[in-house]
Amino acid sequence: MRQLNYLQYKKEIHEELFESMSASYESIFLVDLEHHDIQVCRKNLNLDSNFWSYVDTNPEYDELLKRYIEYRVASEDRSRMLEIAGLKNLKQILKKRASYSFDYRIKNTGQTVWYRMRFTNLSTGEELTRFTVSFENISEEKKTELLSYIPGKKILVIEDNEIDRDILKNILDGDYDVLLASNGQEGLDILEKNYESIDIIITDLEMPVCSGYEFLKIVSETRRYSSIPVIITTVYDNTDSEVEALEMGAADFMRKPYNAEIVKHRVKGLIRLRTSLAMLNTLQIDPVTGLYTRDFFFKKAQEIIDENPDDEFRFVVTDVIKFKLINEKYGIDTGDKVLEHIGTAGRKFIPNYIIGGRLGGDKFVWMQTKHFQERDYGRNVAHEILAGAPVPNLILKHGIYYMTSDSRDISVQTMCDRAIIAVESIKGIYGQYCAVYDDSIRKELVLRQQITSDMEESLKDGEFKIYLQPKHNLTADSTGGAEALVRWIHPDLGFMNPGVFIPLFEQNGFIKELDEYVIHQVCKTIKTWQEDGKMIIPISVNLSRRDFEIPDLDKIITDIVDSYDLEHKYIHIELTESAFVDNPDTIKTVIKSLHDNGFVIELDDFGKGYSSLTTLTSLEIDTLKLDMSIIKEDIPGSKNNVLDFCMQLVNMMHLTSVAEGVETIEQVDRLKSLGCDYIQGFYYSKPLSVDDFEKYLNKND
Ligand code: C2E
Ligand code: CA
Ligand code: CA
Repeated sequence: MRQLNYLQYKKEIHEELFESMSASYESIFLVDLEHHDIQVCRKNLNLDSNFWSYVDTNPEYDELLKRYIEYRVASEDRSRMLEIAGLKNLKQILKKRASYSFDYRIKNTGQTVWYRMRFTNLSTGEELTRFTVSFENISEEKKTELLSYIPGKKILVIEDNEIDRDILKNILDGDYDVLLASNGQEGLDILEKNYESIDIIITDLEMPVCSGYEFLKIVSETRRYSSIPVIITTVYDNTDSEVEALEMGAADFMRKPYNAEIVKHRVKGLIRLRTSLAMLNTLQIDPVTGLYTRDFFFKKAQEIIDENPDDEFRFVVTDVIKFKLINEKYGIDTGDKVLEHIGTAGRKFIPNYIIGGRLGGDKFVWMQTKHFQERDYGRNVAHEILAGAPVPNLILKHGIYYMTSDSRDISVQTMCDRAIIAVESIKGIYGQYCAVYDDSIRKELVLRQQITSDMEESLKDGEFKIYLQPKHNLTADSTGGAEALVRWIHPDLGFMNPGVFIPLFEQNGFIKELDEYVIHQVCKTIKTWQEDGKMIIPISVNLSRRDFEIPDLDKIITDIVDSYDLEHKYIHIELTESAFVDNPDTIKTVIKSLHDNGFVIELDDFGKGYSSLTTLTSLEIDTLKLDMSIIKEDIPGSKNNVLDFCMQLVNMMHLTSVAEGVETIEQVDRLKSLGCDYIQGFYYSKPLSVDDFEKYLNKND
């Protein structure tokens, strides 16, 4: 098998390999089993001196490992590490491979810090007698790994358990094309049809019909499949079966339950390895576009950088928007013609062009000298490139990375990854064709990543809290209601306003769970007031447009409120105007049903720009919430005054009015004079925790 050859090869050059990689290791040990000796080749002085004194006593390897784990490793990774890095396991694994590494987390309050422990076999004979152990902080790499995108890679997942299959699919879906099979035989069928495009196979070991072992055997014995790396997965903590699978040619193994980061990391690592293997004998020129292939581009660009130490460059990644659709609509041949056209035109029209490459799929990369006219880059260049293209209405977007003297040492691949990140950040943004990578883009992506990976746990752990903002009743001069606004109190990221996470939750659908949770919290709060004999203030909850995807939303809301045995009139529903565009019929029906059931319906953000009279007349609403922009931009006495008009509308339709975002006494007076019913805004109070809200009520009412 190809992997084994590569490992063999690695074994021969391990000295060099070791030298070249050692710079990033914080500490390196040389273990000599024959002489019971452990030498410290490099010492990480950040580790406790007690630990180093212990090393000086020259303990046995397993003893030292145990001490290290207790002292440094995060509890969730301890038992795994004890087993995998233990001598018994190493002896088996290093028989088959020249080196081996695995990743773990260290004890650290707050942030997750990842380390990689790497073992390199230095024994001369069959038996493991000498090896090095090196430690490297890989947190940065982990982060970029999660961010960088590998276009067009295909993964075959074979798993009989439906739940596990779904989990894997969910983890891998955004980054790769995932093909699914529920047993080995199905896997083989898919493989036969797709072996040219499949990059990795992940297979369960224990399966009916054709087990993972049988599958592995066929894959390693069939020439056309044998270069595809296979990751096996097991339920049991069964080192023997894992070792057996490795011996049969599996490239790696993973254990259930799956950890998303580990899965991504393993897959990525193997794809990299495979790419670099493939590079040895791939073409240097991409046959479709005539540009350099991805890896050859990286290599060439690096040479140019090295040969011109005083020059600065930039990398531009160009992405064809919705290229998949072009393939579907016009066929693959035409798709290829489009790519060819862009390749040819790019070489001609990209300003200060040095070299160009195809990164795979519909992504191109160009290396340019740095100085040239910058204005309107995206549009003008795209215009020139697209003139005469085989298909009309193409859209190109560009992401740019500037290489400065500070970033000289960053690999070309990383610079291109960053240009990709930049272009990804404007996908889906209308009218923006070009983005320059900077730290804020990166931070934003890291943040998004963390938000998505933490949201579910956080909801379970009660990190989401409702805050209540009073609605002041102008006639009664007292608090007449409140709006529930969610806050996320995250252990690492701190206090977060909904503007940070709600747009993301609306994208990934998690808003549906969050809103249900908020309704529960609101009901609980009102229930406590009722039980304590306090005055009950109605509370409004916000519904997102996506909530209307929930079948029987009206019934679900009603059931929740009923489960607390509360009168429906205490719960107000805020529906944002803009939601209505998506799916008016469902919204109409659900809102009508809720309204018929006694819930008070408030139309939120009125006047924000989506307003139409159709919305107003076709929905059964009780209250109109005037968007804060109307209040902010109001000039009393001006011609065609929007606020005046809105208030007339409210009166005509016999609705209740709430003005939002009111901050000054002048605004309060003006709204009073127009007959506005409620005011919600910082003038009275910002959103308060439930405790503070109760204090506010005691003080003011
Ligand atoms: P919204 O529904 O329009 O909520 C009003 C926003 O205006 C709140 O921002 C509030 O803190 C802010 N605000 C209130 N008075 C003033 C003022 O006098 N001046 C200024 N500058 N701002 C004021 P917040 O809490 O950041 O919420 C932002 C948006 O997030 C909300 O806009 C709502 O659309 C959404 N949201 C909040 N909680 C939830 C929730 O539980 N579910 C859903 N689906 N959306 C929510
Ligand atoms: Ca609202
Ligand atoms: Ca609003």
